[in-house]
Amino acid sequence: MKKTLIVANWKMNLSTHEASVLVHRLHQTIPTHRSVEVVLAPNLLVLQPISVEIDRHKFGLAAQNAYHRDSGAFTGEVSYTMLQDLVHYCIVGHSERRIYFNETLEVVRDKVAASVRNGITPILCVGETKQERTENQTKQVIHDQIVTALFRLTSEEVSEVVIAYEPVWAISTFGGEVAKPHDIKLVIDYIRKQIADLYGQRVSEEVRVLYGGSVDDQSAQAYLSIDGCDGALVGSASLNYQKFANIVDTAYRLQHEESEHHG
Ligand code: PEP
Repeated sequence: MKKTLIVANWKMNLSTHEASVLVHRLHQTIPTHRSVEVVLAPNLLVLQPISVEIDRHKFGLAAQNAYHRDSGAFTGEVSYTMLQDLVHYCIVGHSERRIYFNETLEVVRDKVAASVRNGITPILCVGETKQERTENQTKQVIHDQIVTALFRLTSEEVSEVVIAYEPVWAISTFGGEVAKPHDIKLVIDYIRKQIADLYGQRVSEEVRVLYGGSVDDQSAQAYLSIDGCDGALVGSASLNYQKFANIVDTAYRLQHEESEHHG
């Protein structure tokens, strides 16, 4: 059975000291679960100090962003190469980056390729805006985001990628409407169908698909119970150690129930 993946996207929050306090609390509250993988995505500055504070059996690390070239005259940027020893994952194509920093489909494609080239698993975020949903363009948007982002990868590499379905309208910073699990399932199924058409059935079953959009300790159970949903990308609720610990606990309980169910 796949491990459930729960990712904390701290975004541009927390000083080094605040992050250290949060990690300390998370250590105290979250036990080591073999069936749940917990990954923290702090800001770049905090990544290094946090990396020496965390128990690697308990928490993995992700970067929130990096530049697609490995080195060179790119003032102000940090490359995937530089992050290699620090993180297992990197969030790529988050809607805040697409919207606020004008990251195009091609930029996201180059970042996914750079991430894989440097041995870092991309957490590729895809999702439609409110307007796109209203205009019935959800499938087209998801299709274009997936096809371009994975364009440079082999099937083997695609099977390792994590895809986070994050409808922009459901993310707390963009309105945070509550998404219905049934609607999320339809899109997750569509994502897997895209992967199956492009890379085959086996890859589409192996690829991990997460849900992200205002997941908190109240809604986690409903989203994590969606058939085909392998975990959650959590934004604002991940800054609250109790809420985040409860989400991880929910993931653990659901895994446990399922394995008992399957004997
Ligand atoms: C996110 O931005 O990835 C996210 C899911 O945020 P929130 O949980 O705050 O909606």
